[in-house]
Amino acid sequence: MAEVTSRHDRPLVAILSGAGISTDSGIPDYRGPNGLWRRDPEAQKLVTYEYYMADPEIRRRSWQMRRENRTLKAEPNAAHRAVVALERSGVPVRVITQNVDGLHQLAGLPARKVFELHGSARSFVCTGCHARGPMEDALARVEAGEDDPPCRECGGILKSATVMFGQRLDPVVLGQAVAVTKACQVFVAVGSSLQVQPAAGLAGVAAEHGARLIVVNAEPTPYDEMADEVVREPIGTALPALLERLAG
Ligand SMILES: [Zn+2]
Repeated sequence: MAEVTSRHDRPLVAILSGAGISTDSGIPDYRGPNGLWRRDPEAQKLVTYEYYMADPEIRRRSWQMRRENRTLKAEPNAAHRAVVALERSGVPVRVITQNVDGLHQLAGLPARKVFELHGSARSFVCTGCHARGPMEDALARVEAGEDDPPCRECGGILKSATVMFGQRLDPVVLGQAVAVTKACQVFVAVGSSLQVQPAAGLAGVAAEHGARLIVVNAEPTPYDEMADEVVREPIGTALPALLERLAG
């Protein structure tokens, strides 16, 4: 179970990360306002729940897409490592992420401190009985010739444990993210256009609850005006510098 609050006296730092933090790891923005999926309706069908559940051909193409997806082979970059360094310095840190790549955890952040709003591409889940397992196991079955592998528990349809278009976010994860946002003293939005809800709204909630709001993003966001600090420099250098300062 994820830890929402901190037992320490030091200020709680919440970090909201979007696609921009993983660009240096070679992962493109799939889901953002200008992301690949929004520009390609056919590709978007592969990650839309209604089409996925209704059409075996969509599922076969989805599994092929997952096989070719570079996300599982990606390595954390300097920005992910900087978050871990902040946490190890003794500052209480929680990460709320729009990413499904699992790179915060791979960099060394304890999983209980990461709230994955859109789920994880590193696991599969059964749409029938909710059984889960490592994505690698499901992909091994695809490699072995099952082009739409059914659940071994119940025979149901398997999918990536990510939130597809047309699916609701996990209310538990979302509730924890909101609680962290309200509790933190510093809220750093990094690599997010802050245009996709509900992640975007969290920046506003943080500011309303008195947190210092820092936006680190190459492009302007709707929350720049509200922010105490806006950083436009490349995330790979800007985030480590900023977090070092916060570690003080
Ligand atoms: Zn099942």
